[in-house]
Amino acid sequence: MTHSSALAGGFVLMIVKIALVALLVEAFIMWGFYWLGMGLSNWRFALLDAGLLAVTVAVIAYFAFVRPKERQIQAMMAALEEAKLKAENLSRFDALTGVLSRRAILDAIDDEVDRAKRNGHALTCLMLDLDHFKTINDTHGHQFGDIALHRVAQVVSELCRTNDRLGRYGGEEFLMILPDTRIDGAIRLAERVRLAVAETHLDRLEERITLSIGVSEWHHDERSSKTLIARADRALLEAKAAGRNHVVASQWV
Ligand code: GH3
Ligand code: MG
Ligand code: MG
Repeated sequence: MTHSSALAGGFVLMIVKIALVALLVEAFIMWGFYWLGMGLSNWRFALLDAGLLAVTVAVIAYFAFVRPKERQIQAMMAALEEAKLKAENLSRFDALTGVLSRRAILDAIDDEVDRAKRNGHALTCLMLDLDHFKTINDTHGHQFGDIALHRVAQVVSELCRTNDRLGRYGGEEFLMILPDTRIDGAIRLAERVRLAVAETHLDRLEERITLSIGVSEWHHDERSSKTLIARADRALLEAKAAGRNHVVASQWV
C-alpha cells in the first residue's frame, strides 16, 4: 500500500467514525425529545436537534483533526527549538575542551572592552599557551594530547571567578578576560593558574604539563580589544623566551 492510499484510507475511516458517533448522538437527542414528550413535528425542536448535531460534529472533528495537528505542530516547534539551542551551543562552546569557542571569547572581550570604556572599570586579559605541546603530541600521541588539553581547560576553568571568561583561542592557546580586575590581581590569578596546571598529574605522563601566560591590562587610550589581545600575546612570547612556565605582564608604553 502506498503512503498516499494509506492516508486516504485513514481519512475515510475517520469520517466514518465521526458519522457514526454523530448518528449515535443524534439518536440520543431524539430519544431525549420523545422521552420529554416533545415531537419532532415541532420545528423549533427539530432546529435545536440539528444545531446540537452540528455542534457535536464540530467538537468531534476538532478532537479528531485539529487537536492532533496542533500537538504535531507543538512537537515540531519544540524539536526546532532544541535543534536551535544545540546549534547555538555548538558555535558558542569548543567541542574538545568545553570552554568558550574562539568566536564567543572574542565577542566576550569586545563586550567587556565596551563596558570598561563606558564605566571606566579595570579590565585585564590573559593569553595562555601550553609549553612544548608538540613534543607531548609527538611522544604520547594526538589522542593523549586531546585528553591533556581537556584536562588543562578544566583546571583553568575551576580557577575562573564568576565574571571571568575563558575561551579557546587556537590549538593549545586560551584567552581569559577578567572584568573589574587590575594588573596585580590578574598576575596573582595567572600565577595560581600556572601553578595549578604545573601540579596537575596526567596518567601516562611522568613529566608535568606547564603553560606560559601573558597578561595585559586595558588602557583607556586603547581603541579596541585587538591591541589588548596583541599586548597579552607579546607578553606571552616574553614568558616563552624567559624559559616557559612563566607569567609576564605587558607594560603600557
Ligand atoms: P611552545 O612551548 O613554544 O608553545 O611549543 P609548542 O610545541 O607548544 O608549540 P607549537 O606551536 O610548535 O605546537 C603546538 C602544538 O599543539 C602542535 C599541534 O599539533 C598541537 N595542537 C593544536 N591543537 C591541538 C588539538 O586540538 N589536539 C592536540 N592533541 N594537539 C593540538
Ligand atoms: Mg605551545
Ligand atoms: Mg601555540
